[in-house]
Amino acid sequence: MKTTFLLAALIISMVLAGCQPSASTGVLTTATSVVPPTAAPAATATPAATDSPGKPVVTSTAVTAAPSTGLPGSSLFEVAWDDRSPFAAGLVTGQQAVLEQQPGASVYHLDVALSDDMTTVHGREEVRFTNTEDVPLDSVVFRLFPNLTGGSIAVSGLTVNGQPVEPIYSLEDSVMTVPLSEPLQPGQQAVLAMDFDVVVPTDPETSNYGTFASFDDVLALAHFYPMIAVYDDEGWNVEIAPPEGDVVYADSGYYLTRITLPDEQVLVASGVTLDESRKDGQQVVTVAAGPARDFYLAASDAYQVVSQQVGETTINSYAPRSLQRGSGEVLDIAAAAMRSYEDHVGPYPYTEMDLVSTATSALGVEYPGIMALTSRIYDGQYQQYLEATVAHEVGHQWFYNVVGDDQLDDPWLDEALTQYITLLYFQDRYGEEGYDGFHQSLESRWDRVNDEAIPVGLPVAAYSEGGEYPGTYGAIVYGRGPLFFEALAQQMGQDEFDAFLRDYYQTFSWNIATTEGLRALAEKHCGCDLEQLFADWVYPK
Ligand SMILES: [Zn+2]
Repeated sequence: MKTTFLLAALIISMVLAGCQPSASTGVLTTATSVVPPTAAPAATATPAATDSPGKPVVTSTAVTAAPSTGLPGSSLFEVAWDDRSPFAAGLVTGQQAVLEQQPGASVYHLDVALSDDMTTVHGREEVRFTNTEDVPLDSVVFRLFPNLTGGSIAVSGLTVNGQPVEPIYSLEDSVMTVPLSEPLQPGQQAVLAMDFDVVVPTDPETSNYGTFASFDDVLALAHFYPMIAVYDDEGWNVEIAPPEGDVVYADSGYYLTRITLPDEQVLVASGVTLDESRKDGQQVVTVAAGPARDFYLAASDAYQVVSQQVGETTINSYAPRSLQRGSGEVLDIAAAAMRSYEDHVGPYPYTEMDLVSTATSALGVEYPGIMALTSRIYDGQYQQYLEATVAHEVGHQWFYNVVGDDQLDDPWLDEALTQYITLLYFQDRYGEEGYDGFHQSLESRWDRVNDEAIPVGLPVAAYSEGGEYPGTYGAIVYGRGPLFFEALAQQMGQDEFDAFLRDYYQTFSWNIATTEGLRALAEKHCGCDLEQLFADWVYPK
């Protein structure tokens, strides 16, 4: 979820009162490289990758065999739907086995072209969907988020296994239901293909916190393509998100994306670049990301990058030249946070982590492998929010991306846990003083609702206007929520809790966690009954 200025203001000033950001965070270290946008890596693509109107290859090792399932192959890439070798480069050595898991994860092939003025996107999407449920499905449901976030997306030429289909639109055209001519049985697959055209808003204030906007020389492209919704115990689980929270609830999938954009733009995206070429004032970049819950990209002709290596992962911080000092700090904090979360929770899965300065009016928003931060924390009046914001958004890579959750119905599973591990970051980095400072900030959030025992485990809507506890989302989910995990650790015993946290991450990796799943695993670790604790802190009254 996004952290907003309003929610964060009081708290983070308390953080800073408790722990001074280290002077060492502000400088570019010798391990840091500054690469001007024009010095991007040389194109490595074969001419066939971009010049041919046919099927460009992705890698020299790409499998080109036709799928044996009788499904249409991809028209965009010479890669079999089941071939996950393009995604190996994006995963650290210890995570390669993930590629063998979840054979039913959706495989997205995207080909998108950004207009010269960076305000429209023309795209083609082909996605191989597998029915991983235990019931037949008579439709596949997509979300069209640009229709909710201040812009628009229009789909045309929709086909299922090559046959034209007319979709049905609902929820302010943010839901596109694709009827199937016969139900898709459990384990069966279908290839859905479509063209889409996106108009990107140019006013960040009216475009979902500027997370989907072309503004101030930065294109921020959040959830811009047709995304398959989650089918769960509610069926196809779709709703319009309240403004306080995140809009997306998604399964993990695999994204192979080719992006064509003006040559002078510096592109930053989920995943890793497989190849890149430049011609006639355009660049064509092929990116592989997965497993991942979304595919995000940002671009700007002003971006410069500073980088650091942590283990097998390259961390990149992108910001305009004028914000380079802040960008170096962002990089150092992200590196320290990554080490801290790997120690306490488990491995970061990817070989790349990107942080980008954007015009978002939130402090920061998380996407798979990439985090969008507001340019206003890099310098100037909001700089004091920088450290807690970066540590928080980096934490979402563990809780939101690897361990997913219904961000609309169970926001505490990612937000409260992310706040809790942010507390561990401050403790690791600054000792007791750091812990006390951030802890005070959590307490003062909860103080804003007079420490009322409002449950932490409710849907965003319950804390929103018209809900049971209006106006309490930040105080409860971001403030009381992380304090619950302290109470849980106290009841379980710290060692048991620490083992539980690692196991929870491992158990729910690339899946959707639930409140009951979390509780059951915690009870298994402590051999205790947590009914009363959950009743006191989590469950609806
Ligand atoms: Zn968050």
